[in-house]
Amino acid sequence: MEPIELVDAHTHLILPWFEAYELEEIMKRAFEKKVNWVVNCASEPENYQEVLNGLTIKGLYSTLGLQPTIANLENLSKLKQTIENLTSKERMKNLALGEVGLDYYWVKEEKERDNQAIIFEKALELAHEVNLPVVIHSRDAEKESIDILEKKAQTPVLMHSFAGDEEQIKRAVDNGWVISVPTSVVYRKKAQRIAEKIPLENLVLETDAPFLGPFPRKKGEKQTRNEPANIIYSLKYFAERREISELEVAKRTTENAKKFYKFR
Ligand SMILES: [Zn+2]
Repeated sequence: MEPIELVDAHTHLILPWFEAYELEEIMKRAFEKKVNWVVNCASEPENYQEVLNGLTIKGLYSTLGLQPTIANLENLSKLKQTIENLTSKERMKNLALGEVGLDYYWVKEEKERDNQAIIFEKALELAHEVNLPVVIHSRDAEKESIDILEKKAQTPVLMHSFAGDEEQIKRAVDNGWVISVPTSVVYRKKAQRIAEKIPLENLVLETDAPFLGPFPRKKGEKQTRNEPANIIYSLKYFAERREISELEVAKRTTENAKKFYKFR
């Protein structure tokens, strides 16, 4: 039998949730579950260096972006500078630009939303300039994000933890984008309804650790911290739901992620 190999396509192994000294242990636990590629996302400038420091660890990759709530010109220029100043070694393992996009959940004010859109478009231009695929955050702004991407994206697109409706998923699929589903799909009904609509050809798996883990919070207890090894719970979930083997789910989702991120 061919070995199962898995990817965690989007995670945040950064302070204050994870200490740098934990990274090797976390990756060891990931390898034990055959999660061989982990894409660590820094979505604000103060995390860039920390995430880049982790690139010396086998199996860890990076993506640098700007979460929409802090999208402004100053931060965008920090992002640009950081990408341009990457060492050649870092460049080998920095695989995408993101997450970038729109967040209407946290931002309600129209002027601020307009500003998010402006920075989002500029970020897509930057991705084209530096030739990196883009990882998209589109919370409560799925349609608006797709509209902008269809106009502006010139490099491959990954819709991270996407919560669009059937029509929006179809648009993403028709555009050839990949859609990543977080580990919370194991028990969250809403995530399951969305996941059901995503064809295997477009599906990738993510933890979005420390968030969106596979275990519901028990009453009176703290939420358990999610981590890349938990990708196996999503693997089991999709295999059961789609009545195909775990090997098949692993093969397809890993292939999709590898094609998008171009792991080297
Ligand atoms: Zn994230």
